[in-house]
Amino acid sequence: MALSNTQYNEIMHEYEIIQQENRADLEKRREYVYEHVPGYKELADSISKISVEFEISRLNGKKTDSAFLHDKLEDIRARQRILLHDAGLSENYLLPKYNCPDCKDTGYIGNKKCHCFNQRVVSMLYAQSHLQVLTRENNFKKLTEAYYTGEHLDHFRKAKQISINFIKNFDSTYQNLLFHGTVGTGKSFLSICIAKEVLDRGHSVVYYSSCDLFRKLTDFYYDFNKKTELANLCENIYNCELLIIDDLGTEISNAFVLAQLFTICNERELLKRSTIISTNLSLKEIQNRYHDRIFSRLAKNFQLLRLSGPDIRMQMAKKQN
Ligand SMILES: [Zn+2]
Repeated sequence: MALSNTQYNEIMHEYEIIQQENRADLEKRREYVYEHVPGYKELADSISKISVEFEISRLNGKKTDSAFLHDKLEDIRARQRILLHDAGLSENYLLPKYNCPDCKDTGYIGNKKCHCFNQRVVSMLYAQSHLQVLTRENNFKKLTEAYYTGEHLDHFRKAKQISINFIKNFDSTYQNLLFHGTVGTGKSFLSICIAKEVLDRGHSVVYYSSCDLFRKLTDFYYDFNKKTELANLCENIYNCELLIIDDLGTEISNAFVLAQLFTICNERELLKRSTIISTNLSLKEIQNRYHDRIFSRLAKNFQLLRLSGPDIRMQMAKKQN
């Protein structure tokens, strides 16, 4: 599973809070009934008394009749239900309520995680990925061939098919993609489409524009008070199951940034964590801008996918006018 221990504990803590709230809520309803439904509390007390007496007899080795006890308790409970009903309340008024009845707000059914737990994981992963907003507009449902023709369409179809395979094999295969090509040819769009599918399958994804990522790393690195933030950021970008660096080449270029980019590639390769990079730079420009040791890593470990054609945003703007 894609969660860190801290994230797991955070989710389990949410369940504890829900349980506490629901228990407090039940306690309030019980107090209300004890106060407003005459005779109800006496019946509840008699259930406790009879049960305790039965247990003491059993422990003392006396002969006990559990079927008789069962019938007796059932009889009392039926009388309680009638009292609730006569007071205009639901018969279930004093049953515990759960946000998720399937796991009774424990997160687990037996030793398997409940669907509500998995849902929380996905929500948490979305929040961590910075992709909550972007995936609303950039997803496979909105992907269209309409803006591509000729060889551009061929490039797009190939990239799309490889993206689909990337998702299909994500659980079993270490794979990296590098989308390159001119501005507005759908590189970021495809990266985010993939991110959405991978997130929805419960994997951790972290998305950064190159510019933001290296600015943040630089800020944290040179600020002594940000050591924890730096450690958390590095932990996230080295370990997340899918890292997306959008718009490589828009970051400031200096020795620190180059070293960081190399470290990211290296760490992720060692951990066999997949990465997607998109860039408006051509392969030649990548080679010129980054050291050979970075370029050779990209060339060796990444599937290079070229997208081409006229700027889609311009085409869309023209259409709207
Ligand atoms: Zn549940």
